[in-house]
Amino acid sequence: MAELDKISVDRARLLHPELRDEAIQILNECNIALTGRAKVRYTYTYRTPEEQNDLYALGRTKVNPDGKSKSRPMGYKVTNAPAWSSLHNFKLAVDIAMLIDGKTMSWDDLKDWDGDGIAEWKEVVAIFKKHGWEWGGDWSSFIDKPHFQKTFGFTLKQLQAKRNICDFIAGTDIVNVRTTAGIKKPVLITTSTVNVRSGAGLDYPVIKAIASGNEVLQLSENRDWIFIEFGKLQGWINRNYLKSK
Ligand SMILES: [Zn+2]
Repeated sequence: MAELDKISVDRARLLHPELRDEAIQILNECNIALTGRAKVRYTYTYRTPEEQNDLYALGRTKVNPDGKSKSRPMGYKVTNAPAWSSLHNFKLAVDIAMLIDGKTMSWDDLKDWDGDGIAEWKEVVAIFKKHGWEWGGDWSSFIDKPHFQKTFGFTLKQLQAKRNICDFIAGTDIVNVRTTAGIKKPVLITTSTVNVRSGAGLDYPVIKAIASGNEVLQLSENRDWIFIEFGKLQGWINRNYLKSK
């Protein structure tokens, strides 16, 4: 096994306890898949609420030298997310870059550094998705290709609500992603045999199939996909195969 990038491992350790080991495992799988000059570097994992607010202030209440002009005296805005509206504040997101020859960074998502016919970025996306992570490159409104997140089915709103009711891992201020306290769970019925997937999309692996006519509980949704609970099973089903009770 090739040695893992220490900076990335250290940053993985700042993630939510449910994601730390997995993020290191993903790094290892990427190391094996990318055999050329490029390796994955985690450029960002946890961002403190204070750091988030500092970023949010740029171009708004704090002058950003970048983009500053007569008509734009505050400079460019750099994010639309104040504290606690970024998954990075919840320790549930990573940003990546390619580290080339251990020295320079690249965000080229089309380059095939190891010559196996598949761009490195694409290989990495597939590995994250295999573990049920969502890719910012799939978003329609604000495409964020370096960004991956895993929210355990919860929407940002639901995570914020958990925070407000202090649904934390015991002894910490980290939101518990294994409880569904305070979450409404409408009952839905499967309208045919349906696949339950690990993420909201056809490119995520199937965990299990559920027969037609079963009752499932809706926990959240993401575009065409509903995050459901079925006994002990949780996963994503396309909304076309569900009806309300
Ligand atoms: Zn990000």
